[in-house]
Order: sequence, then C-alpha cells, then structure tokens
Amino acid sequence: MTDQRLSSEEILALDKQYVWHPYSRCNSDLPIFPVESAEGTHITLCSGERLYDGMSSWWSTIHGYNHPDLNAAATDQLSRMSHVMFGGLTHEPAVKLAQTLVKLSPAGLEQVFISDSGSVAVEVALKMALQYWNSLGEKTGEQRQSFLTVKNGYHGDTFAAMSVCDPDTGMHSLYADFVQKNHFAPAPQSPFDGDFIESDLDELTRLAHAHKNEITAIILEPIVQGTGGMRFYSPEYLKRVRALCDELDLLLIADEIATGFGRTGKLFACEYAGISPDILCVGKALTGGYMSLAATLCSKKVATTICQGEAGVFMHGPTFMANPLACAIANKSLELLIKNDWQQQVDNIEGWLIKGLDRCAELECVANVRVLGAIGVVELKHPVDMKRVQPLFVKHGIWLRPFGKLIYTMPPFISSEEDIAFLTQGIFDVLMDEDFATEG
Ligand code: PMP
Repeated sequence: MTDQRLSSEEILALDKQYVWHPYSRCNSDLPIFPVESAEGTHITLCSGERLYDGMSSWWSTIHGYNHPDLNAAATDQLSRMSHVMFGGLTHEPAVKLAQTLVKLSPAGLEQVFISDSGSVAVEVALKMALQYWNSLGEKTGEQRQSFLTVKNGYHGDTFAAMSVCDPDTGMHSLYADFVQKNHFAPAPQSPFDGDFIESDLDELTRLAHAHKNEITAIILEPIVQGTGGMRFYSPEYLKRVRALCDELDLLLIADEIATGFGRTGKLFACEYAGISPDILCVGKALTGGYMSLAATLCSKKVATTICQGEAGVFMHGPTFMANPLACAIANKSLELLIKNDWQQQVDNIEGWLIKGLDRCAELECVANVRVLGAIGVVELKHPVDMKRVQPLFVKHGIWLRPFGKLIYTMPPFISSEEDIAFLTQGIFDVLMDEDFATEG
C-alpha cells in the first residue's frame, strides 16, 4: 500500500467497478461526484468545485463539516480509546450522553439504549414494544403481534422498520411478501398551521379499536413525514394520537430520527403537540453528522415492565453499542447545539428560506412551496429527471438530492443569510434553467 491519493478518474472507475450506492443499481449511469473534502457549509469536489450543502448530508451535519470542536472531541477520545465493548463495561462518554438525552428529550423518557444507526434504533423500539407486552403475559406473535401506523411514513430499511414504512411509497414494495403485516391508516391531512380536519383520525381510531388487543404500539414520525413526502401535519393530530394511545393503553413510538435536535423549530417535534411518547428514536444529527450513532429512549414504565417480565433482559446488543468515539462526539455536538443557540439559528433559517423560496411558488412547474423550521420544500407537478437535474444543481454551486417531485433542503444550522440566499437563488435558477424540464 502506498499513501498515493487516487485521481478523480481513478475514484470514479473503482466506484463504477465495485461500489453500491444508496437505492441505486450497481454500474449505474447516473452522475456521481467524487468529494475531496468538506468544510463548514461547503463540500469540495475533486474537480475543485465548491458546493453549498443544502442537505446537511441527509439531516445530519447541523454544525457543518470539519468543525474544530467536534474534531477536538474525536481526537481527545481517540487518544483514550476509540472502542470498547459495552457488555459488562461502561464509560464516561456513554453515561454522559444518556444523561443529556434524558435531560433534553420530552418528559418521562428515562432509560436509554444506544445503538449504531437509525434503522436499528427503530428495530430496538419495536422490540421494546413487543417485549413490553410479552412481559405483561401477552404472548408476542399470538396476542400482541402488529403495529399501527400511517401511510407516507418512513422508518428505515431493515426488516421490522420496513414493515412500518408506507407499503407503496416506502421504497420497499419489493419485499412486501417477506415483511410483517401491520395496520396502515391514511396519512394525516390536517395542515401544520391550518384548520384541523375533524375526520382526520377516523380510520386510525377505527383500526386501533378494531385491533386493540393485537396492536403493540402506534409508530409515527411526529409533525414531519420525511422520506414519505416531506409532509408537515397538524400538532393537533399528534395530540389526538397520544390521547388514543392513552385511551386504549397502547404504546406510542415517536421516530424523531430526522426531526430531532431542532430541525423543525422545536428541539423535538413532539413539543409542538406538548406530548411525550413512550418510546423515542433519535439518530442522524446526534453526532453532528460525524459518525453513525442512534438511541432509543423509553419511559420508566416500559423499562421496568420489560425488566420484570419472564425474560427480564432486553434482547439486543450490537457489537458497536455506545461506541465511545461516537458518544464523545455526540456529547460535544449536543453541547454545541445549546451553545450556538439552535433556536435562533433555526428561526433565522426559516425566515430566510421563506423569503428565498416564496417566488418559486409562482412558477408553472411548481405545485407547492412549504417551510418549517430549517426544512424547505419545493414540490413540483411532475417528477424530476435525476440524470439531468443533479448536474444542474452542481453547475449552480449547490448540493441537493431531490427525489420524485420533491426538491427539498435542510441546511446546516450554521448557515448564514448569504448561504441561504445563495441556496434559494440556486433552486430558483435551476427551475428556470432551460435544461430543466420535468417529466410528465
Ligand atoms: N427514521 C427516519 C424518520 C428516517 O428519516 C431515517 C433515515 N432516513 C431512518 C429512520 C433510518 O435511519 P438510518 O438511515 O440511520 O438507518
């Protein structure tokens, strides 16, 4: 092995030969861009172009890239230990992280299971719910065997997580015959800041009552349905789901993997409804986008019920559970979140996104423009052609990764007014570019 760096062409050739990318065919002819480095809000390609990152690397890099404090936290922890198993051992980064998560998250969540990715955090949440009922003497798989959720949801790509994703739009229809069959109510229709539609929960309520002795939990993404359509819905809906769970004694699982840590304008989206779930999943921004880490929090009631059951133990334990390096970085990232005044950062970005994206609504190809917190969405009338549109964004100096009819952005919290003006101008310019044309 030599230290010689590969050229851009060599990276692309090896990539094409060996590597699989997310949700793509191998040897794909879709454009792909080798990255040299990233700093602050910008990604530098091997070709030398600097792109403003409007995606925060899929909701994660809230403090920007190559952050000196996060780098220092990583280096400091590296010099102690990058990893140690979590069975029978514990360490300062993990216990501090658990304590901070309990302090920051909605009231009543008191026990923390730290895992390695969002999908695993969801698997853990679903297993906790199953084991909760099992511990109460209701045999898993016979009595309590299913989950209730809403359409347009997305919770990850592992098997149990797939079983609660929208069966049609959730990208997993291919595996439909292999996944657990769960109950799906229509997606919430009541807008985030408009009138609540009284009939919105009718089908969810009917399903919950009809299957109340069989359902373990209701799982949903609070307030913002992400990958299932970037849909924002009414806090009243969430409030009523909590009430329904209380009425029927069902557990509520909130998947805040995308929405957590300030992204929607509240530290956790559940706060819009003033509710606490019984189980909460977090991930993505937890380490400021530095490393893969996630956590599942649950109430004392859930934890003690599981531990007093026949099995007593909770049966999950990833090799890299509570990885000290990732936990140390997460601790620093959460410290930065508070120190940087995330609320002000997100409120500013919200105002700048509204100001910059508003005029897109007047374009013929645009169906809807919506902004919530540091999330901006331009929904088109027809799906984008990724092959044509991705290089156009690069040409305009921004990194965005649209899907379907959605051009959407969740900028790093450290973005300045100039950054967001550049981003929104870029989106507008791409929509106006003569090479931009939608299918349909
Ligand atoms: N839940 C939600 C709401 C998500 O947005 C995602 C990731 N897109 C996941 C779960 C899965 O997380 P991961 O990709 O880290 O497995």
